[in-house]
Amino acid sequence: MARKKPKQALSLSFDIPPEVWATIIMRLVQLGWLAWSKQVKITPQSAAKLVDVHWEAIRRAIRKYQSWASLLPDEYPGPVTQHSLFQPRICGTPDSVQAVGEPCKWPHKEITYSVLGTLPGVGDADFKAAAERAAKQWDDACGVGMFYKVNLRTANVILTVADLGGPGGVLADSMLPCGAAANDVMQQRYDSREIWFAGEGPPLQGRIHLEAVIAHEMGHALGLPHLAPNGPVALMQPFYRGDILRIQPPDAAEVVTRYGANTPPSPPPPPPPPGDPPVRYRIKGTNIAVDVMTLEPLPLPHVARI
Ligand SMILES: [Zn+2]
Repeated sequence: MARKKPKQALSLSFDIPPEVWATIIMRLVQLGWLAWSKQVKITPQSAAKLVDVHWEAIRRAIRKYQSWASLLPDEYPGPVTQHSLFQPRICGTPDSVQAVGEPCKWPHKEITYSVLGTLPGVGDADFKAAAERAAKQWDDACGVGMFYKVNLRTANVILTVADLGGPGGVLADSMLPCGAAANDVMQQRYDSREIWFAGEGPPLQGRIHLEAVIAHEMGHALGLPHLAPNGPVALMQPFYRGDILRIQPPDAAEVVTRYGANTPPSPPPPPPPPGDPPVRYRIKGTNIAVDVMTLEPLPLPHVARI
């Protein structure tokens, strides 16, 4: 009797070495597409077995990522998917942010922030000024007001400085307010090892535009996730571009769904024009009135007064 042929390990049915599987799994976890227990260590030695044991979850994560990134959702992490997954990121905030039930947002519309820490090469006043300009971009785009607070204990969002790895790594990251209370505090981190440009306008050659990065992180602080990288150009896409310095229409559309549109106070009604009011004639047998000088139809409310 012939022996049953041993089943080939699932991970080996793809032409992907175990060490690459290990990096793919870790990246999916890092970017928020795959939930993973910290107890289960991911190593090149264990990767093949992990793929087999956790294939359903890994497959779903790959498919969700491919769909989000406008790639062919074939559940195969080939070169195209790997290239997209490992592209350098503007920030370390996970892509996949979901609140249970409703959109991720603050319950109130007056969001406060403060700055704690010093970025090398950037004056503290310039750091604060860049934060204020970035916050104003969101102020202008939707129904929130973002206010700077000197007192850190009363601020919702604290901008801090940390070593995030320097050039080539992420520039910053931010917590999100999913399910937050109005007095909650959350933190952002800006990389102490980048070469920042804190001025207005286009950045100097080789420098990272601080206002643009803060504006991106403030988007997270308002509850926005990363927008898909292959969609219309947006500041909330996960890759840094030195030529996108302000929020774009897709960013504004996303934040308006959470906080409503910016509604500036309506201007006072214009004073009535000088001179006599128009002489009106009602057209017999109709509800239509016309100005006797211009023969223009007049609004219906005037009809009753003729
Ligand atoms: Zn981000």
